[in-house]
Amino acid sequence: MKIAEVRTHLLDYRLPTPFESASMRFDRRAHVLVEIICDNGLTGWGECLGPARPNAAVVAAYRNWLIGENPLETEKIWARLYNALRDQGQRGLSVTALSGIDIALWDIKGKFFNAPISILLGGRFRDRVKAYATGSFKRDGVDRIADNAEEVARYKAEGFHAAKIKIGFGVREDLQVIRAVREAVGPEMRLMVDANHGYDALEAVRFGQAAAELDIDWFEEPVVPEQIGAYCDVRARQPIPVAGGETWHGRFAMKDPLERRAIDILQPDLAGTGGFTEARRVVDLAALHGVRVVPHVWGTVVHIAAALQFMAAMAPSPVRVDPVEPILEFDRTENPFRQAVATRPIEHRNGIVTIPEGPGLGIDIDRAALSEFRMRED
Ligand code: CA
Repeated sequence: MKIAEVRTHLLDYRLPTPFESASMRFDRRAHVLVEIICDNGLTGWGECLGPARPNAAVVAAYRNWLIGENPLETEKIWARLYNALRDQGQRGLSVTALSGIDIALWDIKGKFFNAPISILLGGRFRDRVKAYATGSFKRDGVDRIADNAEEVARYKAEGFHAAKIKIGFGVREDLQVIRAVREAVGPEMRLMVDANHGYDALEAVRFGQAAAELDIDWFEEPVVPEQIGAYCDVRARQPIPVAGGETWHGRFAMKDPLERRAIDILQPDLAGTGGFTEARRVVDLAALHGVRVVPHVWGTVVHIAAALQFMAAMAPSPVRVDPVEPILEFDRTENPFRQAVATRPIEHRNGIVTIPEGPGLGIDIDRAALSEFRMRED
């Protein structure tokens, strides 16, 4: 079996109501899927985290190193592709593009051996995971405080045990938002906050000191990802556990924050940190340092399916009778690609998501949906 073709599919959807995180405005949802086709007709699907067109361009740049290779040799291919762009790569698009390719190769491997990827990774510690709701962005034209309180109360009613709230818009208003949400959902629901690196260290410390009484599980991306020293500062000077890692691509980027204990919770992204091949090493590295892992997820059903296969195979750390279980980040914002791209969408029931058992990623791609949402050339 040899790789015969590598394609990308650019998906695009204009949002009726734009929304914002602290660092980005979303007028549209755009994502890129990677399709790898073998000479025997087997096809695998992957996804790259980040901007769709630039990722597609880097996937295309890797194409010549892939054609004619045996797709089952995932470790060998990963090492070669990483090395091909290493001198000018190391992080960013060179690794996010490689992630989409690696996920597609593991999908092929699963289909070839007729087993879900989680089995090929060593086995399933679990068949379902609790999901937490990611939403609570700042939406155009509404009162953010009331809007967030109403939104998170809805997640609670849907059965979610936890929800993550977007902050980083200003400490005063952010605190008002968290207080309103806590009041709306009561003391039991788990709440996290995500600043999308919108604060500086002083703001992050001030926010964390004031918000801790509201029982917050973690404080995600308080400061920009390059500032590991500022991360350490935030972790030392306020009581909420610090989370981060969605923009640290690969084990080399994870090493410094782990060794310096900049974080309490590491959030590697399957579609950003180097696919299954590299994410395994990242999880081992986190376990070595005693840091909890909760994967980051943001994208289409391909990304969600990849995260689920990976989470199924994540060994508890520590192993014990009733271990700490990984939880799935489940984006609740408007995104047709969560449902439309697969013939059978992955959904939650009462805040619980069942991990697919079919071969590879365990999903089938709906090609009609790919055409419907194809990005136009303009
Ligand atoms: Ca985040």
